Amino acid sequence: MDCLFCKIVKGDIPANVLFEDDDVIAFEDIMPKAPTHFLVIPKRHISTLNDLTDEDAPVVGKLQTTAAKIAKQKGISDAGYRVVMNCNEMGGQTVYHIHMHVLGGRAMTWPPG
Ligand code: AMP
Ligand code: ZN
Repeated sequence: MDCLFCKIVKGDIPANVLFEDDDVIAFEDIMPKAPTHFLVIPKRHISTLNDLTDEDAPVVGKLQTTAAKIAKQKGISDAGYRVVMNCNEMGGQTVYHIHMHVLGGRAMTWPPG
């Protein structure tokens, strides 16, 4: 399968990895939209949020707990940060392997664009 993030999981494409275990990997976004911008993804390929099943609930929960741990390590927890998951075209998804964006280091606006 020609999936960019699966290639990062396999180590075929380099990434600035922040955390990795059997289930998830976190790495810096290559085109950061904030002073802090990293992604947390499941190692197992899941194309979109629409493809999630109840069996995926633990790994999706782990995306969030991993995001929170890294945010704390990066020192953005207390000031605050934003977590975003884009789904399909109207949601702004460009890489079809689900990923949690974590953005911080500046004030976010609402509603998002
Ligand atoms: P989305 O538009 O929600 O699908 O987000 C995809 C994200 O992946 C974007 O923020 C891109 O900047 C980021 N991205 C694309 N290629 C890479 C890469 N090789 N390494 C790290 N992040 C990437
Ligand atoms: Zn993939």
